[in-house]
Order: sequence, then C-alpha cells, then structure tokens
Amino acid sequence: AVAAVVTGVLLTGCGILPGSGDDQAAAEPAGRVALLLPERAASRYDAADAPYFSQRLKQLCPACEIDYRNAEQDAAEQLDQAEEALEEGAKVLVLNPVDSAAAAEIVELAHDRDVPVVSYDRLVLGAPVDYYISFDNAKVGRLQAEALLSALGDGARDGEILWINGSPTDNNATLFKQGAHETLDGKVRVAAEFDTPEWNPANAEAWTARTLSGLKGRDIVGVYAANGGTAGGAIAAMKAAGLQAVPVTGQDAEIAALQRILVGRQHMTVYKAVRAEAEKTAELAFTLLRGGEPETGSTVDNGAGAVPSVLLDPVAVTKETIEETVVADGYVTPGALCAGA
Ligand code: BGC
Repeated sequence: AVAAVVTGVLLTGCGILPGSGDDQAAAEPAGRVALLLPERAASRYDAADAPYFSQRLKQLCPACEIDYRNAEQDAAEQLDQAEEALEEGAKVLVLNPVDSAAAAEIVELAHDRDVPVVSYDRLVLGAPVDYYISFDNAKVGRLQAEALLSALGDGARDGEILWINGSPTDNNATLFKQGAHETLDGKVRVAAEFDTPEWNPANAEAWTARTLSGLKGRDIVGVYAANGGTAGGAIAAMKAAGLQAVPVTGQDAEIAALQRILVGRQHMTVYKAVRAEAEKTAELAFTLLRGGEPETGSTVDNGAGAVPSVLLDPVAVTKETIEETVVADGYVTPGALCAGA
C-alpha cells in the first residue's frame, strides 16, 4: 500500500497519469537537479532564486530532488560543487556561473555525462551550454543610466559622476556596463570608473572612499552603481565622507535598497522578476529531466554557437513606483519594507 501511494504521488507529480500501466515510467527515478548559484552578498539568491526554483520544481515533480549549492564567489569552489553534484547523480545542472568564461569547463564535465546545462541568469561563455534564461541585461544598464540622467536633469553637465560596475568575470556585468555607457557617454563626465571584484559591496565601499579622498573639492553629482550591494557600499562611503545624498542607481530591488530609496539616499533600483525567472527555469529543467526539448523563442550567441534563450524584461523602480511594481508583484511586502526603516 505504501509503495502504491508513493508511486501515485510520483506519477501525478510528474504529470504522468497514475494507473496508465506504464511500468517503465513507474520505475523511472524522479531525478535530481543541481542548482549552482554564485554568491550570497546579493540577497536574491537565498531569498528568491533558490526557494522559487525549488517550490516550482517540487510542484511539477514532488519526488524530484534539488541539490542547491552556493559557491560564495569562488569559481574553483563552483567547479568542485559541480563535480560533486554530477557524481551524486544530478541529471540537469542549473548553473549561474561565478566566472562566465571559466564555467565552460563545468559544461564539458556535464556533457561528458550527457547532463544538460541551463545557464541561469549569467551566460556561460565559450561552451555549448544547452539553454540560457535571464533578463535583457543591456536594458538593465540602459534603465539605470536613463534614470540617473533624468535625476541629474540640467545638473548632468555641471559636475562629475562616479561609476561602479559589477564583477569583471560576470558576463551580466559586461552587459550592464555596455547598456549604461551607450546611454551616458557624451552626456555626463565621469570622475572615475571601477570594476568591482566579486561584486563585493566592501570593495565598492573601499574604492569610493579612496576615490573621494583623491578627488577632494570636485563636485560629485551622482553615482552609477550596477547593483544594490555596490550602491550600498558607495552610499556608506559618501555618508562617512560627510557628503550630501546624490542620485545613485542600483539593481535587484533588495529590501535594504528600497528602504534607502524611501528615505532618499538611493534614487532607483531595477526590478527583475526573479520569481518568473526561477519558475521558468524549473519548468525548463523538468522538461529536460523528462527528455523533452523546451521551447524558447530566441537565441543568444555565447561564442560557441547560438544558445536557445529566454530573456525577461527588467523594470526601473523609483520611490514613486515601488508600490505599483515590486509590492504589486508580491516581491516584497509593505511590512518588510517598513521593518527597521
Ligand atoms: C545578477 C544581479 C546581481 C549580481 C551580483 C548579476 O549577475 O544579474 O542580479 O546583483 O550578479 O550577484
């Protein structure tokens, strides 16, 4: 009786009708999917990506196992984690690479075992990764830049801005930077620009503090910061230097950043619907687990060919639009926004 119940749950969960008499399907293991995420400084990974992915996969396939590992910004560690996950029987890898180029090796290892790899949020470069799901990341950079320009208004040409990009090993950081430069070049003067190693907020803070003390007397009217963590670092350094709040950009709609926006220390963030991204990825992984071919609709060239891709749309958020965007979408609750603000 117990076996029958277990089988029933498995079959219903995997979308195969119980009692169909399909013995082979009944004997099929539910499957193990590895979710390899890159870091923890941005709160999205533990707070949204991992739980939304796991919930959706469990809904589709209650008996599936999810092997979530976080490499904490260490590319060598991520390679080890991928090897371990493969050894422990992962049948699909969902990989958000710490280092977009180095991760090509992970794709090779997986393919040696006929395990498909989904490049999640960040694109793996130079390897025939099977699918890519992310946002229009050049658009993220353009949205940040447009919001900064409109906040600076006529003051855009009077002073200079500080410019803080993400990690140089993250292909997304390259795209954010490209989109922002397309929009800002020729329209603002840049006092100094920095690529933040490992997206580490402390690195952004230290660089801002150093740069400000070297630029004494210069008029810094705004900061282009690629995400919420780097924005937070820059803002902390400006506060410590006794400077007044200037428009600062960001990304990820983290609670801490939304609170800074509400009190006027940060101008904007970019909301990316991580829930939709994570759930679509779970659906894709499930299709792959069953040996199907997911439909995507577009492709992106990663240097090793055209990768079938799904690209979602990012949304700019300012104080005026917090409610109609991230709150309306259920990404944050008013209670969480107010707590500790
Ligand atoms: C992600 C951002 C995130 C950053 C740091 C990027 O690849 O798209 O959402 O803030 O990495 O983890």
